[in-house]
Amino acid sequence: MGTAGHEEVLQGVRRPLVAGNWKMNLDHLEAVRVVSEVGLRLHGEDMGSVEASVHPPFTDIRSVQTTLEDRTIPVALGAQDCHQEDRGAFTGEVSAPMLARLGVRYVIVGHSERRRYQGETDELVGLKLRAVLRHGMMPILCVGETAAQRDAGATSEVISSQLKSALDGLSGQHVARVVIAYEPLWAIGSGTPAGSEDAQAVARHIRQIACAQAPDGTECAGALRVLYGGSVTAGNVGDLLSQPDVDGVLVGGASLEPASFAEIILGASRVVG
Ligand code: PEP
Repeated sequence: MGTAGHEEVLQGVRRPLVAGNWKMNLDHLEAVRVVSEVGLRLHGEDMGSVEASVHPPFTDIRSVQTTLEDRTIPVALGAQDCHQEDRGAFTGEVSAPMLARLGVRYVIVGHSERRRYQGETDELVGLKLRAVLRHGMMPILCVGETAAQRDAGATSEVISSQLKSALDGLSGQHVARVVIAYEPLWAIGSGTPAGSEDAQAVARHIRQIACAQAPDGTECAGALRVLYGGSVTAGNVGDLLSQPDVDGVLVGGASLEPASFAEIILGASRVVG
């Protein structure tokens, strides 16, 4: 498998990540405008150790790539999904090596909207995650419970099962290159985020479960980044990132507006330095 992200693993450093998932919003012209404005708002600001990424629709990726490079905007390129195979007769699909060629660093896998609307199973999510690693990129693996599962007290069990099937058989070094996003489904797009203490409790559980099977489990747990996602705003990012096991945020709606996305990135840097 590829080597991107190796430096974070070797040093055991958990670099905070603010990732913006645009979903099926913004065409390539709008995308260029949004990233250019994010760049202007970040220009001359101190982002500290915080890393930011944007995850545009596939049709925007090349335009966003050249805009980020030409204007040296300190934002990494991401994607929202990929196919599990490298090439072949899969009409309409985009493969991991195609994304790697475009300079993509992070690929979201297993977002709840894909699990729900495209019927993606834990097994398929695991295959996509391995395709991303194989091509030297870093997967952002989304896990999370529904409101009914939360109300039934099944959050830990649901998340453990999602993690185990996606990560089964990977070495601790590979697990540490996966970014795991805890995204409770009831918090996505609802305006009601999880409380920061609840996010912390689940993030700690994720760290333990994800690295439990690795022979080098302690090293893995020290390096693995766990994000929180679901109704994150500039107003709540500080509380969330003050939690010891929350290493960043995955942002949907608020990443579409340059002002709010830049404010979340800078808000994160004020907390974590
Ligand atoms: C998401 O869908 O990944 C997400 C976090 O959305 P929002 O921030 O809009 O709740």
